[in-house]
Amino acid sequence: MTLLRWLAESDDERPGAVRVDDGAVSWVELRRRASAVADELRGVDRVAVEATATLGTVVAVVGALTAGAAVVPVPPDAGPMEREHILRDSGAAALLVPAGGPQPVEGAGPPVVPVDPTRGSDTVHPEPDPAGTALILYTSGTTGAPKGAVISRGAVAACLDGLADAWSWTPDDLLVHGLPLFHVHGLVLGVLGPLRLGSRLHHVGRPRPDRYAAAAGSVYFGVPTVWSRIAADPDAARALRPARLLVSGSAALPAAVFADLATLTGHRVVERYGMTETLITVSARADGPRRPGTVGVPLPGVRTRVVDEHGAALPADGAAMGELQVCGSTLFDGYLNRPDADAATRTPDGWFRTGDVATVDPDGWHRIVGRAATDLIKSGGYRIGAGEVEDALLAHPGVQEAAVVGIPHPDLGQQVTAYVVGDGVDGPELIDFVARQLSAHKRPREVRFVDALPRNALGKVQKTRLTAD
Ligand code: ATP
Ligand code: MG
Repeated sequence: MTLLRWLAESDDERPGAVRVDDGAVSWVELRRRASAVADELRGVDRVAVEATATLGTVVAVVGALTAGAAVVPVPPDAGPMEREHILRDSGAAALLVPAGGPQPVEGAGPPVVPVDPTRGSDTVHPEPDPAGTALILYTSGTTGAPKGAVISRGAVAACLDGLADAWSWTPDDLLVHGLPLFHVHGLVLGVLGPLRLGSRLHHVGRPRPDRYAAAAGSVYFGVPTVWSRIAADPDAARALRPARLLVSGSAALPAAVFADLATLTGHRVVERYGMTETLITVSARADGPRRPGTVGVPLPGVRTRVVDEHGAALPADGAAMGELQVCGSTLFDGYLNRPDADAATRTPDGWFRTGDVATVDPDGWHRIVGRAATDLIKSGGYRIGAGEVEDALLAHPGVQEAAVVGIPHPDLGQQVTAYVVGDGVDGPELIDFVARQLSAHKRPREVRFVDALPRNALGKVQKTRLTAD
């Protein structure tokens, strides 16, 4: 099994197969450049890559994978502590830094090795063992310190083949996105996907609506914050009409954004769900229906179940809320240096506990209620999903962003509390607005207006930071 099958086999020398903000290459040229990096990495077990949104990062990552080394992407905007944690925890032998791109600030860590992304070599490297590690990806750190997930080459291949099937992803596609290259979304789907499946790739740098609009892709990837900016820019959104598929993931896509995009682009966005630890496990299909507020059905090779707090399976009745657990060929091998986290997330029968709460409809469609730790609010004996309340708030024209949390309350256990970025609207009006849409116990008891919500690089709201004070 060749991990980057298309890249390994293509003899296409036409320029523009892979285009990043700072340059473009043909398939053959990318293979030659990656070979030159691989020549330097023989015998290296793990190597970190300064994952700037550059062609140099693509060359360095593919070079390391070609040599059989595990890649540890380092977010270029990581603070000194996060950077040091990743470099130290991963045990990377070196930090590859693409020459010509942004350079990291000096700090402790393994030796920095500059990569000249324009140098080529015709060495042919043997294909590494599929059971070997492809990536050590650090989780987003939404709920705590990022953890290193050890991901095999086989898991990456299984995930991408599942997505090829679900999304009818073929060499005829042109994939466009502007995602960071250090998480599953941007790196596994957004870079390794095209290299395995043969579609051309255009990474637009910053994910601005005008850049998405100008790229004339057939498939577009984005996180909800990007889709929401595009929905607010009708000209950009209309420019996506000729595309084949718009895909959203990494966090819940608000129903209002789904509806606006459907009107403006003519496309019902395909939403998919996954995690660093499991890669992508559930998605709507390109050849099937889409349902706003749901993330689709399990991908080929993946099984899911929803269980109660005792681990007993819950019915797929669209109502029973419980923890989503997954198993199958896309799962990671374990956390690096974190036996505690491994033990806490594996069931005795080998399933992975996602920590997310979900319901499943009778026909297999999954709805992600949110994270058990922060999005499932237990108030007055009711269990309330934060996302549903957030969607209700976002339907108000005066609300730009909303995050709903449960804060400790003497009677209720937790009180539904909304953090809102908005203007021209006050708290009582919003509480009323939600009460007209949802059952009474779901309405916020309190609305706190803020200038911005704390978000990480993928635009995920860091709720633990909201309630930290
Ligand atoms: P950490 O584990 O360090 O706290 P994280 O969980 O945000 O960070 P990731 O692995 O990048 O790190 O994100 C996986 C999580 O993202 C899932 O567990 C889920 O909560 C959320 N997620 C991903 N896709 C979706 C989606 N389509 N809808 C709702 N939530 C999603
Ligand atoms: Mg997580």
